[in-house]
Amino acid sequence: MGLETIGEFGIIDRYARRLDRPSDRVLVGIGDDCAVLRPDSGRHLLVTSDMMVAGVHFLEEHTTPEDLGYKSLAASLSDIAAMGGEPLCFFVSLGPPASTEPSWVERFFNGMGNLSQRFNVPLAGGDTVRSERTVVDVTVAGQAEPGRILSRSGALPGDAVLVTGELGASAAGLALIVQGLAEGPLPGWVLHSAEKALLAHRRPMPRLNEAFVLAESGLVHSMMDISDGLAGDIAHVAAQSGVGAEIRVNSLPVPKWLSSIAALCKASAEEWSLYGGEDYELLLTAAPDAVERLQQALRGATGTNLTDVGHITDSPGVVMAETGVRLRSAHQHFGSPPS
Ligand code: ADP
Ligand code: MG
Repeated sequence: MGLETIGEFGIIDRYARRLDRPSDRVLVGIGDDCAVLRPDSGRHLLVTSDMMVAGVHFLEEHTTPEDLGYKSLAASLSDIAAMGGEPLCFFVSLGPPASTEPSWVERFFNGMGNLSQRFNVPLAGGDTVRSERTVVDVTVAGQAEPGRILSRSGALPGDAVLVTGELGASAAGLALIVQGLAEGPLPGWVLHSAEKALLAHRRPMPRLNEAFVLAESGLVHSMMDISDGLAGDIAHVAAQSGVGAEIRVNSLPVPKWLSSIAALCKASAEEWSLYGGEDYELLLTAAPDAVERLQQALRGATGTNLTDVGHITDSPGVVMAETGVRLRSAHQHFGSPPS
């Protein structure tokens, strides 16, 4: 039985409304022609959209509806974090095929509910249409103090390049899934690591608390979140700041257990940490003499590590510090234009 049994309004009333909670900042949520938001006075409004298309961003046969809901909201919350912002509410536009079971839609919204509650971000609206293939758009509205907004364009030559948490775990989880190893059976020596990799891939935690501490410090020059891989994303910071970067690959915060998954998948942990996307860690630059203060502040407030992985240079391009070799750039939809 497909969605014709409950219809568009059934989807909205049964499943979406559960995530619509009253708040001081969302005066009108689901049900009217527009949501009405009231950011705190003196704050700028931030808005970000992220789209997920079946077959392009996720493999339907390998993605539960809960994980799809969770990840599509996590990606947009991570964008708010990347600017140093605080989320106010989110909007979901959902296009499932007509044959989709109502329980799929329920599970999709449940996956979002997990994050929506954790960060106290209500669902305030969206749109619901029928589609040939599943498409999801999540838009998040947030706010930030004008002087605390962190863009990609503020990196200065000499800055240290810093990343929160660890890199490469999400790519390891994806490799397990794509190679058909995620459902097991797996050898005992790799079981625990495989669980961590799959969790990192399926349930990335947006770094909202970390972003708040970093923005408050007033010490960060530029920031973005790592969605396409460190190498590609630092290239965006460098290009938008009119600078270059050297990355010390030997300093990357690669979890120790990653090597066992790399051995199992016949892949390279270093490649995953440099080029693997979807870790949703924060990538930032700051003056070298601010690094220790930032590390202490972040660890003290959130328990999250901040690792110094390189520095900003004044010659364009991103190179490996150890070898001087240029790092590959990011994946682009529609392919890369000839250079
Ligand atoms: P309109 O025709 O005015 O665009 P809709 O009938 O599309 O209104 O939507 C009715 C209400 O339900 C609106 O408040 C809209 O924001 C909300 N809504 C629709 N789809 C979703 C969804 N997938 N998630 C959350 N809210 C939704
Ligand atoms: Mg509509």
